[in-house]
Amino acid sequence: MEAPGLQIDPAKCTGCSLCVKACPFGALTLEPREKFDLPESRFKRIAVVNEACTLCGACVPTCAFDALALDEIERLGDERIEDYRGVWVFAEQRDGQIQDVVYELLSRGRQLADERQTELAAVLISGDLTEPPAALGAWGADRVYWARDPRLAEYNTDYYTQIMSDLIRAHKPEVVLAGATSIGRAFIPRVAVRVRTGLTADCTSLDMDVEQGLLLQTRPAFGGNIMATIICPHHRPQMATVRHKVLAKRQLETGLEAEVVPVAADLQPSLTKILEVVHELGNQVNLAEADIIVSGGRGLGAPAHFDLLRELARELGAAVGASRAAVDAGWIPAYHQVGQTGKTVCPKLYVACGISGAIQHLAGMSSSGMIVAINKDANAPIFDVADIGIVGDVFEVVPQLIRALRER
Ligand code: FAD
Ligand code: SF4
Ligand code: SF4
Repeated sequence: MEAPGLQIDPAKCTGCSLCVKACPFGALTLEPREKFDLPESRFKRIAVVNEACTLCGACVPTCAFDALALDEIERLGDERIEDYRGVWVFAEQRDGQIQDVVYELLSRGRQLADERQTELAAVLISGDLTEPPAALGAWGADRVYWARDPRLAEYNTDYYTQIMSDLIRAHKPEVVLAGATSIGRAFIPRVAVRVRTGLTADCTSLDMDVEQGLLLQTRPAFGGNIMATIICPHHRPQMATVRHKVLAKRQLETGLEAEVVPVAADLQPSLTKILEVVHELGNQVNLAEADIIVSGGRGLGAPAHFDLLRELARELGAAVGASRAAVDAGWIPAYHQVGQTGKTVCPKLYVACGISGAIQHLAGMSSSGMIVAINKDANAPIFDVADIGIVGDVFEVVPQLIRALRER
């Protein structure tokens, strides 16, 4: 009846099945009591947990008979939640250069750490760097744990997982944040499993319940139709990946230096061998960094019509984005896609052409500085977020815009 960590009290369980329905992992079943060596009871069945249990705790409050309990010692090993202190940010670098998302995470991390009156540390895994790691102090880091080794110059899932997990076990931070980049998405879930905690992927905002020490991790759920705030009450650290450009960057003071703590990289043999690093074409689009984006949707009607947007983009010095409908139609490659399952962007100017403004598209661009929407349907939801709305045909409006820009 028990899994390590989840206790089911046979004296209290009535076999009511509420917990079975509440378990998101199908880890609970009802079994005849006679299968087990149990004292006599007027109830015929009892809840039984199987190996699918993740110790998420969701079933515990559903039991009206107090028959379920999670064992705290099992969840945290021989430590307590109070033993975990400090906020950490994974300081992702590529080609020795710290990535922009790190500054965003440090900026928010500093605020969270201040609210909890604790330290902010960065974890840097790299070969040589283009700037000294102590400079992360200007972004609020009190300390930088730096694992430096020529073998770490290129990303390696095994090495990164090992270093991060070992550091977490040694120093016990209460919060660990990483960018929801291809690197963060690849190794942070492995770290979460190794240190036996939860992970909220792709967060769009982070807050802190200071009293309880709970990180409030908000992200779109159910296809982007609701925003869910997720907590991790029974495990530590609380881990989250956050998309680029959803948090604001706040540099403190240039010249502030963080303490740099070298980390001995005692690397176990890796199962991965890097043969070659190929920079994908998508990087050239660089949507995430663009100050101006011109995006097209199904309203463009055909792949060739993206040429019109490319022309407008050239005049504006903009990158070209797209809705998923345009990508799914095969009109433009997927790395142009903006939205919940595409890129999150935050340009100064976003021009949406023939895009309806579905919530999944808005999830990726609604924090843009200024939004201009061109759509022939005056009731299109894109106009709810647009600063300037042009009700009209893209094939009339866009050529006029191009002409006006050329005549400047
Ligand atoms: P439509 O909704 O068909 O809108 C086309 C618009 O063009 C209409 O408003 C129409 O009035 C207008 N139009 C037509 N002709 C013209 C013209 N000549 N001139 C001007 N206007 C014209 N979508 C994304 O974009 N990004 C995502 O990352 C994303 N992720 C998703 C994830 C999930 C789990 C799900 C379920 C959906 C996701 N979607 C995403 C899809 C999303 O729900 C919409 O289907 C999609 O955004 C619609 O694209 P669209 O606005 O181009 O097309
Ligand atoms: Fe037993 Fe409680 Fe589950 Fe009902 S909810 S089956 S009483 S453990
Ligand atoms: Fe299911 Fe979570 Fe309860 Fe385990 S702790 S039985 S996974 S609801």
